[in-house]
Amino acid sequence: MRTFKQLFATVRERANGDQRKAMRDFNFSQRLDGKAKSVKELAENLGFSVTLVSLRRGISGRLVQDPFSDNGYEIQVNKNQSKEAMRWTVLHEMGHFFLHSDRSDPLADPLYLDRSDEAFYVDQKQEAEANHFAAVLLFGDGSLEAAVSLHGKDIRKLARVFGVSEKTIEIALKQFL
Ligand SMILES: [Zn+2]
Repeated sequence: MRTFKQLFATVRERANGDQRKAMRDFNFSQRLDGKAKSVKELAENLGFSVTLVSLRRGISGRLVQDPFSDNGYEIQVNKNQSKEAMRWTVLHEMGHFFLHSDRSDPLADPLYLDRSDEAFYVDQKQEAEANHFAAVLLFGDGSLEAAVSLHGKDIRKLARVFGVSEKTIEIALKQFL
C-alpha cells in the first residue's frame, strides 16, 4: 500500500470526504517547503482532540473516547519521549481510529494503549497496520520519492524533512521506493 487510493480503499466508509481531503493536503503540503508539517493540526482537522500526557515509561500513547471532540476520540501522547516519536504516535493512533476502532460501543474503555517498544506489541498485525497507515500519510503518493529526488538518500536530512526518526526513514525507503 503506497497510495491514498489504496489507503482509502482499506478505510472505506470510515473516512468522510473532509477527512480524506485533510489527509491528502497534509501529505502534499510537505512538498511545498520541505518542512515537517504539524501532525497536531492534521489530527484536529480530522476531528480528534490531542493532548500531551505523562504516561509510564514504555507507553507511547493511546486512543481514548472523548465526548467533546468532533469525532469522539482523543489521542493522548506520552510527553516523555522524543518529538519524532510523539509525531509518529499521533499518526499511528489515527491508523487505529480509521482501521480498527469499534465505534459501536460509545462507553468502551481506552482502545489502544501503545507501547513504544515493538517487542511488547500485543497485536502485531494491528500494530503493523497502524504503522503503515502513518507511513502512507507521510510518504505515500510519491512524497518520499520527491524528497529523495531533492536530497538523495541522506537519511539524516530526510528524517528532518519528515520529522521522523532515522530508523523510520530506513524502513520507508524499503517500503516506498
Ligand atoms: Zn498501536
